[in-house]
Amino acid sequence: MAATTSTAPDAGTDPGPTLDAFAEECTAFLDANAEPRPPAREFVWGQGDDSIALFSEIDPTEERRQLTEAKAWRARRFDAGLAWITGPTELGGRALAPSYERLYTSLEARYLIPSQAFFGIGLGMVAPTILAHAADDVKRRYLPAMYRGDVVGCQLFSEPGAGSDLAGLQMRAERDGDQWVLNGQKVWTSGAQYSDIGEVICRSDPDQPKHRGLTGFVVDMKAPGVEVRPLRQMTGGATFNEVYFTDVRVPDDHRLGDVNQGWTVALTTLMNERASIGGGGGGGFGVASITRLVEMLRHFGLSDDPVHRQELMRLHCGYQVAKFTSQRALDKIKAGQLPGPELSIAKLALTENLTATARFVGRVLGPRLVADTGEWGTFAWSQFVLGTPGMRIAGGSDEVMRNIVGERVLGLPKEPGDDSKLPFRETQKNSRS
Ligand SMILES: Cc1cc2nc3c(=O)[nH]c(=O)nc-3n(C[C@H](O)[C@H](O)[C@H](O)COP(=O)(O)OP(=O)(O)OC[C@H]3O[C@@H](n4cnc5c(N)ncnc54)[C@H](O)[C@@H]3O)c2cc1C
Repeated sequence: MAATTSTAPDAGTDPGPTLDAFAEECTAFLDANAEPRPPAREFVWGQGDDSIALFSEIDPTEERRQLTEAKAWRARRFDAGLAWITGPTELGGRALAPSYERLYTSLEARYLIPSQAFFGIGLGMVAPTILAHAADDVKRRYLPAMYRGDVVGCQLFSEPGAGSDLAGLQMRAERDGDQWVLNGQKVWTSGAQYSDIGEVICRSDPDQPKHRGLTGFVVDMKAPGVEVRPLRQMTGGATFNEVYFTDVRVPDDHRLGDVNQGWTVALTTLMNERASIGGGGGGGFGVASITRLVEMLRHFGLSDDPVHRQELMRLHCGYQVAKFTSQRALDKIKAGQLPGPELSIAKLALTENLTATARFVGRVLGPRLVADTGEWGTFAWSQFVLGTPGMRIAGGSDEVMRNIVGERVLGLPKEPGDDSKLPFRETQKNSRS
């Protein structure tokens, strides 16, 4: 989690502007570059856009257009010194405390700016890992460009036989002089279709136990031998991909961490991933606001029904608890501490609430959820409902989160199995393949 610990200003150095002066600077920049967001209108059933999706489902042309806009906005922010507020100055950051970052975020939310979702994985997970584990030249080459929006990053971890059991991955990295040669397949790589670089974890020594023979790299997604193939989801879009590597050459200076220490590198990324998912929307309703659900009950004449009312209140309480749990974890991160199992609990709570919301909506809407009659606020929910299983799996499945909570919070025994001590090539799974 070096991104949060190494970036706060050191004692004795320039303390930077006061929060008030910084707020003025941000507001001047935002006023000059963006339109203020109109005041939120009261939710009225039947009015406005009714789309409610957990994953964006846009066609490639529209995606490219939105990406160009998103990059232009990040570039303006970066050039104004506001794109990496907590980052080290030598890499284009401002070296200010996280409170300045929070202040900018809260001010920016008052303006209409292009969606920055394209940078979620790169800046939320890959950049902190590069900052923590890459060689200085690689940090200089990629981090300013990532925070400026010129370089977009993706996470190349999962493989067809290694998702929850990530340390069982098989993609090979073999050393050849001052280069590495990568061969294998990754899967479910979100955003690979528009990414410039990827963080990849490979098996560099199959004679070591599975957690110890891994090495991480920054890989050029446009290098010869990298092939990205989109995967279509049940929601209709294709936000993730299969990525094939055939004799892809990566310079040794693009290695993340030491040879065979890739598990530590992966953990830095996974910790940041859970923080961004569990903390996303503060564990709250996000798109599915309580008001929207109340109005749905009212519209269908169910607002006096005690069973539906009780269910709605249960949902509301669940989201509130998730919100405070994820806030606890995020506060720890912002204070420079390593979060405990709160992130797993927050991620689990968020997905359980989303699943319960999908069930609630299904009961209220019935067949309107699956048959598109054109009626406002009904079939639109199918995107949300079909997106919830993906949220239960991405960033560690519900079952895996429960295992973590069972072991680390409840002190239950670890899962049986001896393959973490055996050389990887001798493990049962590997010898079967
Ligand atoms: C929307 C989305 C985006 C994603 N984006 C990326 C990305 O950008 N980059 C990337 O690398 N990966 C990405 N993933 C992949 C994701 O990390 C994996 O899908 C996830 O880790 C689960 O792995 P798996 O799919 O191989 O399922 P498996 O690990 O095969 O699991 C199958 C089932 O078995 C259960 N299970 C597995 N192990 C245990 C256990 N020990 N105890 C109990 N139950 C268990 C799981 O909970 C699940 O129900 C994405 C996934 C989704 C859904």
